[in-house]
Amino acid sequence: MITTTEKPTIAEPPQAAGHIDLLGLSRERLEEVLAPVVDRPFRARQIYQSLYERAARDFAEMTDLPQELRARLAERFRVGMPEVTSRHLAADGTCKYLFRLADGATIEAVDIPDRGRRTFCISSQAGCALACSFCVTGYWGAGRNLTAGEIVGQVLAIRADRGLPMAGLNIVLMGMGEPLLNLENVKAALDLLTEWISPHRITLSTVGILPGLEEMARWERRPNLAISLHAPDEERRGRIMPVNRTYPLVELMATLRRYPLEKGRRLTFEYVLIRDFNDDVRDADQLSRLLSGLRAKINLIPINPDPVLGERMVPPDDERIEAFKERLRQRGWIATVRRRRGDDVGAACGQLRAFGREARGFRGKA
Ligand code: SAH
Repeated sequence: MITTTEKPTIAEPPQAAGHIDLLGLSRERLEEVLAPVVDRPFRARQIYQSLYERAARDFAEMTDLPQELRARLAERFRVGMPEVTSRHLAADGTCKYLFRLADGATIEAVDIPDRGRRTFCISSQAGCALACSFCVTGYWGAGRNLTAGEIVGQVLAIRADRGLPMAGLNIVLMGMGEPLLNLENVKAALDLLTEWISPHRITLSTVGILPGLEEMARWERRPNLAISLHAPDEERRGRIMPVNRTYPLVELMATLRRYPLEKGRRLTFEYVLIRDFNDDVRDADQLSRLLSGLRAKINLIPINPDPVLGERMVPPDDERIEAFKERLRQRGWIATVRRRRGDDVGAACGQLRAFGREARGFRGKA
């Protein structure tokens, strides 16, 4: 357990020497940087389409441009698309992607087909500084913020790999990292994605970084908001989520009560069920009181165990999960149990890790 309140420091992405990355730039910024190089104004539009609609990985693939222009572009610019280094297909059709970024950092993202729907779970940071004691990403420690291009690039790379169009996708920012600690780049990535995908099909999940939430409340096109709650009181939340010391539950709830929710929208509360820790029906009652008056639904996530998490981090048995859910429903809540997806390839919630690094480990356990 961390005993002092620490503000995690997060590294910024390295600036690639020389070549400007075009991926992740807004349409206007793209026009600006291209202006000195392209021959005609409509080229920027063509390049924008190649990047996002055709998921081009380099200029050679932009075959609608004159060859001489492609060569000139390659001298100054690059397309910072994450490189797929491996994919692991789980028995249930879920596919985990491992990407390598320009500086060698590695991240994971997951493609989750579900009947007619398709959801991509993408990362916002390479690693995570928050050290929640139930999460493998946290066990592996902090990495760095991803650029907007690296965030959008995960969507583009999986799409290209699967041969899917941008339309009709659902995106969840529930992969590695804390999106509200990388707010600027996440916002830039969402601004691009929402040109094709409705913000109602995009969900940002956060532990509740309060300054980030205040800022999101002012965005014009807000994604759905999911809050990682995981415990019904201050004391227990603090034990499994060190960030609760910086942004206590009571302040988080006050902020969420002020958060602007459009008509028809609800907040989602994620609650990881851990055996004999937060899984009693009395905890469900406490949770219900905590959320009272909010327009919300509750997503129960039986914890996915992992050897690095220790033997206490195991899910309750099915009857107990069911009883917890039923108690919430009796109290009038929309409560669902998240099915485990892709756990045979380490793609399930809380199992994403960056390989090739020394584990930082937890400085104590709940
Ligand atoms: N940092 C953000 C985004 C990551 S989302 C956040 O925490 O919300 C990852 C989701 O998976 C969160 O709800 C997280 O709490 C949950 N999770 C983490 N470890 C898990 C585990 N071992 N089993 C099940 N869910 C887990």
